[in-house]
Amino acid sequence: LALTLAACGGEGAGSGGAAGGGASGEAPEDLTIGVSMPTQTSERWIADGEAVESQLTEAGYDVDLQFAGDDIPTQSQQVDQMITQGADVLIVAAIDGTALGGQLEAAAAAGIPVISYDRLIRDSENVDFYVTFDNFAVGQAQGTALLTGLGVLNADGSAGTATGPFNVELFAGSLDDNNAFFFFDGAMDVLQPFIDDGTLVVKSGQTSIEDAATLRWDQATAQDRMDDLLTGNYNDGSRVDGVLSPYDGISRGIITSLTNAGYGPTTTEGAQPMPIITGQDAEIASIKLIADGVQSSTIFKDTRLLAEQAVSAAQAFLDGSEPEANDTETYDNGVKVVPSYLLEVETVTADNIQPVLVDSGYWTAEEVEAGQ
Ligand code: BGC
Repeated sequence: LALTLAACGGEGAGSGGAAGGGASGEAPEDLTIGVSMPTQTSERWIADGEAVESQLTEAGYDVDLQFAGDDIPTQSQQVDQMITQGADVLIVAAIDGTALGGQLEAAAAAGIPVISYDRLIRDSENVDFYVTFDNFAVGQAQGTALLTGLGVLNADGSAGTATGPFNVELFAGSLDDNNAFFFFDGAMDVLQPFIDDGTLVVKSGQTSIEDAATLRWDQATAQDRMDDLLTGNYNDGSRVDGVLSPYDGISRGIITSLTNAGYGPTTTEGAQPMPIITGQDAEIASIKLIADGVQSSTIFKDTRLLAEQAVSAAQAFLDGSEPEANDTETYDNGVKVVPSYLLEVETVTADNIQPVLVDSGYWTAEEVEAGQ
């Protein structure tokens, strides 16, 4: 059953009426926003859910926040329920970007605007707005972080002293998530020239996104694939120098596999040095691994800012206007180009955990120290 998690409807909500009424003239406390998030197994979606919920609650709205446990039928059912229970706007981060067509049709029929959150909902005309990060730039940043970690590039982008050849392996995200393609294409945009000139060698030969994909972004699946890559390609005394990983959970699966195979931080006696491993989301367990020199980098996406964009888009629809887009060209969902608001991202290495993550209040120094 749908849970209504509005923290404090009623009095105090929408104080002073500043948030105004909707186009319908209704007060915020009479309006419900359905928020559908994919899973609670990854910190970022919990943070997204909490940030969206608290900001909407603060603006006076009722919020119906649901997590779908990475199960497509569960998400469809939750969104169906939000619609039948009279949601006024939907904010949806889809598990499978193509699986919600029926729900969105029902939403459109009921006049409910739909905001696609972080992940583009595909093959539907009924997506009204998209808030996300610059996903191609995320991939480019991951590719660049791999090259700087290896010393092929300097931090300022100029050519570094290392020329390789370096053995690298490539991982991609879940192919039912549109973002996976943007991340992989962005990374390959940066890496391909170095593969072509022999600086990087993908020893397994697995260079297509289909080869590299990780269903549901699952850590154990990534660990298994890394095990297979090691036994299939690195039993001849050669080593892995770098791994492109699109997400911190996948990176941790890769690290477990490598650790089992005898790789470790340079401080561990007898260990092969860990390859340069990228990531995404600045998950706290990975930040600790970065601080400890095990993972090399991650990409920080400030979910608080994404929540802000989702909330202001919802408010615009409720006010009877259109949210402000900063990109109207990139995100073709197969049926239409969805007007989008893209946020910038930042690469985090051991050198800038403090200014980027601690000083901004995303993680406390204690959390970084503890890794949780
Ligand atoms: C998000 C990433 C996240 C991945 C796995 C993608 O859609 O954009 O931030 O790492 O899903 O949850």
